Amino acid sequence: MEVYNLILAIIFGILIGSFLNVVILRIPKNENIIFPASHCPTCKTPLKWWHNIPIISYIFLKGKCAFCKEKISIQYPLVELASGIIVGIVYYKNGFDIYSLMLMASFLSLLVSSVVDLKYKAITYIMNILPVTFAIFSNEDILENFKNALLLAGGAVFIRDYVSAFINKEAMGDGDILVFATMGAILGIKLSLIALFLGAIFAIFPAIYNRIAQKDLELPFIPFLSLGLFIVWLFENQFLEIWNKLYA
Ligand SMILES: [Zn+2]
Repeated sequence: MEVYNLILAIIFGILIGSFLNVVILRIPKNENIIFPASHCPTCKTPLKWWHNIPIISYIFLKGKCAFCKEKISIQYPLVELASGIIVGIVYYKNGFDIYSLMLMASFLSLLVSSVVDLKYKAITYIMNILPVTFAIFSNEDILENFKNALLLAGGAVFIRDYVSAFINKEAMGDGDILVFATMGAILGIKLSLIALFLGAIFAIFPAIYNRIAQKDLELPFIPFLSLGLFIVWLFENQFLEIWNKLYA
């Protein structure tokens, strides 16, 4: 693998991230994602192309709109960066073919779901089904992936109903269930269990903060599950080794 190609992949990812920011901003409001052209969300002034260079413009504008000086959300450069990292890592690990593209698309749509979940606490049906749909086609064992997606989704509903009965309120949303399904399709059953465990650990920290700060925030679960999925996928060989040692 040439470093040059890897850099191209990362830049490609950053550019996609720039588009994903528009999707994140407009999809929950049901706005058209192509028109109108990018504008400042506060003063509505259309942006010049040099205000719109991913990450770089944010740094040069010191995080403020060039016209009204209103703060620009750190979400923009972070999503661009995360997107660049995702595409770079998938390319580095799996190379470049149709299956890699499907995997990138699955992770990137999880990134969108995660940010929308954090920002709006609500996700749309199309955002629920995109990650798992791409995930099913992320390698040649499409039937196996589909089976594992169904198993994990079914298991998730089963767990949700038990937990909901105990705490007497809905424990997980449809969005969470479909991240379970995405895990199943990408990781298979064993590794999905590890990813779930990891996701639950990540979710503990904000839950503790919630308790300490005496806030009753509704905790988004999608970002933590997605992070668990990505990390387990990235180190799948190492995690499988640990699993096999424990259950040999
Ligand atoms: Zn402005």
